[in-house]
Amino acid sequence: MYNPKSNNAEEFICHDEVLATLDYANKNKSNVALINQIIEKAKERKGLTHREASVLLACDIKEKNEEIFALAEQFKKDFYGNRIVLFAPLYLSNYCVNGCTYCPYHAKNKAMPRKKLTQEEVKREVIALQDMGHKRLAIEAGEDPVNNPIEYILDCIKTIYSIKHKNGAIRRVNVNIAATTVENYHKLAEAGIGTYILFQETYNKESYEYLHPTGPKHNYAYHTEAMDRAMEGGIDDVGLGVLFGLESYQYEFAALLMHAEHLEARFGVGPHTISFPRLKHAADIDPNAFLHGIDDDIFAKIIACTRISTPYTGMIISTRESQACRERVLHYGISQISGASRTSVGGYENKEREHDSEQFDVSDQRSLDEVVGWLISLGYIPSFCTACYRAGRTGDRFMDLCKKMQILNCCHPNALLTLKEFLQDYASPETKRLGEEMISREISRIKSDKVKSLTEGYLSKIEDGERDFRF
Ligand code: SAM
Repeated sequence: MYNPKSNNAEEFICHDEVLATLDYANKNKSNVALINQIIEKAKERKGLTHREASVLLACDIKEKNEEIFALAEQFKKDFYGNRIVLFAPLYLSNYCVNGCTYCPYHAKNKAMPRKKLTQEEVKREVIALQDMGHKRLAIEAGEDPVNNPIEYILDCIKTIYSIKHKNGAIRRVNVNIAATTVENYHKLAEAGIGTYILFQETYNKESYEYLHPTGPKHNYAYHTEAMDRAMEGGIDDVGLGVLFGLESYQYEFAALLMHAEHLEARFGVGPHTISFPRLKHAADIDPNAFLHGIDDDIFAKIIACTRISTPYTGMIISTRESQACRERVLHYGISQISGASRTSVGGYENKEREHDSEQFDVSDQRSLDEVVGWLISLGYIPSFCTACYRAGRTGDRFMDLCKKMQILNCCHPNALLTLKEFLQDYASPETKRLGEEMISREISRIKSDKVKSLTEGYLSKIEDGERDFRF
């Protein structure tokens, strides 16, 4: 039976409840009165239930869909302003014992050159990332208890935080590794990680078991209940996501929101982020072999509906998507993007793209400087901010500020300070020019005189060579 407070995967992601939701959404997809009522509720900016959100996703009335997109764009501005946080993935190891049918790391792929970074190699990757200007990483690894045990991941985190090259520093390490035990999550929390990210891949149990035929990841309950264990282990911020293309997007959308409702019901705090990966071509993986691919229009609608249903959640899009697609969905609620990513192990130090060991093809292959210049030209402030978790603004403390629409008071000046660092240390002359103009424009938008004058003071100190100021 459906129970959002239960700690049992099949009760908080209840298959029958998902099916009933899809049926309800389908029956009401042209019900103007109900759709208007849901849009009015959305305008209160307190979120929507999975049932309400599913009706909006199914809605087939053009004008109403335009209202949904406009609302998503407004929410994005209200809660997060015009800043976009930048990060890069760092692939530590592609050893994997699982049999995921969509991932080229699967154990049966004997053609994939297997590699695991040594601590010396981690150091060189981090220096290459710092030299681009990155301050925030998401570490990635396959699941392999022998080659990638938790001790290896912890060593890598320690190495990453320890490297201070020129003016560079990685100030936040997010972690995307396989589901693990409460004890291991506790160790990750102690190591000072930012967000723990784990994609559900698909919420449909039957499909999940079919798509993960072998290895520890086959266990649906263990995977689906991982965020509960992460929170029990002391990790305040968790990041959800499904891999779109594996199952029907309507099913995934409803279940993803049920997962968010479950975390809120059980821990009083919903997901810190939701990521939107779409299945991509990779070594021996052909996305066309999977039946549920979605086009850019549906993808944009999913993103807009998620934004208005979970207004306080950070939303992430990676370089799996093209520049054009990224540009479109930035309007509808995306608040974080990766830039200049390499999805092969050792990909930053070795500048050649090693397609044979990439996890998936990267569509947006621009440099970080190009991505920064592009964001500025679109009117977004590229932000390398890592302040919240370093200032203890995690979990419910972060959500509290976000719900009161106060997080912007920190995000906006912090975005300007970290952009300034980027312009001083890593930008091309053209990006520097665009960025300086943006900073002068944006300073005048800071409402509090005190924050404005502190920001101006910090900016001139950054100009004089000092680093790492934050609100
Ligand atoms: N191994 C970890 C796990 O089992 O959760 C996570 C790390 S994996 C490097 C990160 C994510 O990449 C996976 O969760 C999956 O959603 C995504 N991924 C795998 N194959 C992909 C593909 N062909 N296209 C796009 N994304 C893919």
